[in-house]
Amino acid sequence: MATIDHHPNTPRMRIGHGYDLHRLEPLPPHGNGRPLVLGGVRLEHDRGPVAHSDGDAVLHAITDALLGALSEPDIGQLFPDTDPRHESQDSSIFLAEAASRVRKAGYLLANLDATVILERPKLAPHKDEMRRTIARLLGVGIDRVNLKGKTHERVDAVGEGRAVEVHCVCLLVAQ
Ligand code: MG
Repeated sequence: MATIDHHPNTPRMRIGHGYDLHRLEPLPPHGNGRPLVLGGVRLEHDRGPVAHSDGDAVLHAITDALLGALSEPDIGQLFPDTDPRHESQDSSIFLAEAASRVRKAGYLLANLDATVILERPKLAPHKDEMRRTIARLLGVGIDRVNLKGKTHERVDAVGEGRAVEVHCVCLLVAQ
């Protein structure tokens, strides 16, 4: 891969932070929830996100962490939820765009670390598949991608199963 000539003042590292939350509703006909997809993996559940796109809060938080590290516009600015083209959109498209911007800016993903806060279903059985899927979408090894699952101890909206929340930090290094 060609090395990009950096301006002498180009930072060697850039840190990014992303956050997302989606309300979870019962699936139709009892609510407006979409099928629950997190980290590109479909999870069986009686609730799902209310969203314009597929509502994958993990991919949204990672996308915003990458864009944030580059000081580029955030996911809502690049892919407005008023745009009918993004209706039911597979969120891997958003992540691919962020990954492409990382490469164009001359950076590589050193690692990302995300925390998924979800009362149900349990994340543990799906974590490795989610990490593999995210790593594949980003074109990096699975060792660059970490996920942690937590509950919200049954309190507040997340703890009552009415929302899913994701935090992500990432580190980019100049190529
Ligand atoms: Mg979102």
